[in-house]
Amino acid sequence: MDAHPPYPSGLRLTGRRVVMVGAGHVAQRRVPALLASGAVVTVVSPEATPAIEALADAGEITWECRRFVEGDLDGTWYVVAATDDHTANEAVSAAAEARRIFCVRADDAMAASAWTPAVGRSSDVTVAVLSNGLGNRDPRRSAAVRDEILEGLREGTIAAPHHRDRTPGVVLVGGGPGDPELMSVAGRRALMEADVVVADRLAPRELLGELPSTTELVDVAKIPRGRFTAQEAINDLIVSRALAGQRVVRFKGGDSFVFGRGFEEVIACRDAGVPVTVIPGLTSPIAVPALAGIPVTHRGVAHDFTVLSGHLPPEHPGSLVDWQAVARLTGTLLLMMAVENAPAIASALVAGGRAAGTPVAVVCDGSMPAERTVFATLGTLGEALEANAVRAPAIIVVGEVVRVAHPEAF
Ligand code: SAH
Repeated sequence: MDAHPPYPSGLRLTGRRVVMVGAGHVAQRRVPALLASGAVVTVVSPEATPAIEALADAGEITWECRRFVEGDLDGTWYVVAATDDHTANEAVSAAAEARRIFCVRADDAMAASAWTPAVGRSSDVTVAVLSNGLGNRDPRRSAAVRDEILEGLREGTIAAPHHRDRTPGVVLVGGGPGDPELMSVAGRRALMEADVVVADRLAPRELLGELPSTTELVDVAKIPRGRFTAQEAINDLIVSRALAGQRVVRFKGGDSFVFGRGFEEVIACRDAGVPVTVIPGLTSPIAVPALAGIPVTHRGVAHDFTVLSGHLPPEHPGSLVDWQAVARLTGTLLLMMAVENAPAIASALVAGGRAAGTPVAVVCDGSMPAERTVFATLGTLGEALEANAVRAPAIIVVGEVVRVAHPEAF
């Protein structure tokens, strides 16, 4: 047996012919990565999984619907023998060896001339982990090591400071509904790279405890305002810090552009010539019902969903919502910032034609330890909110999807 460890190398496959022999689950997992590297992939197999067939139909790969022949290796740089037949893989491997083409084998790594590492990508590096092949070659161990490394990179615990993006500017990060697990990888990374984090009340608080001790944390509630409004003071703070050369993360709950005033901050940055980027977040009107087991659409039940701010009551001169038009919609309504005005909104919807028996779910503190759901109908909503002492933040879901998801409540 060969006692030498493999020599790691990154293959640059753009425009190069790669042959995958076999079209089962191994091919299904490996082909996308080959395509992502720019390889020109030919799959040779008398049968294929639907996923491989779909790639062939889409013209992303060539599928030769037959058994392997040696001529398949003409002009080939790299080959993967991934059939479920040991003899067939051996034949592919032998043909490749004769032509000095590196060959991976799904059935017998120790007999192969190349190994596929456990791979993962972070924004600026590819992590590839190979076992050294002495003793047992254990792919699970490689995958576990890869996961550890990726997690460290994502959380910033193994990103050396000089590798961090330190370009001055503002990054608007949407933190999702509250549970840090529901935040994007890109958002987490941006947080760990920031010089200063300007955080809202609804942004996932737990993550702030993980920030490096050198990161300055500003709670927006505590920004001195003087003659400015709170929003002006925030705009002023993020712009002035970026102009002073800092990398600023503006950290909010949900998505910055869904009732988050994020675009006012984008405009303020643009006006001041400060570079500004946006990392979207899971928005609560969709994510919070989902956490409570309620889909916002369902085939044959709701073909539309509408997200509405209820911070102003119907009839309020400042309201931009046409509640009469909304009352005529048949799909799902998702009311945000609406706890206080919910009784008035429910009345307006019923007056406008939506049935008083329409099911309603009020999902409070979605994804937080105190998460709970209160059920009602449009007719009983006001009472139910009071009886259950419902407080913001809550998403009020109106529509038949609530009954479909929780028939036991009605
Ligand atoms: N930008 C945020 C929304 C900010 S407005 C987003 O995209 O989700 C604040 C309102 O969002 C709250 O009044 C409430 O209606 C809703 N909300 C935000 N987080 C919530 C949560 N975890 N649970 C329930 N409702 C939430």
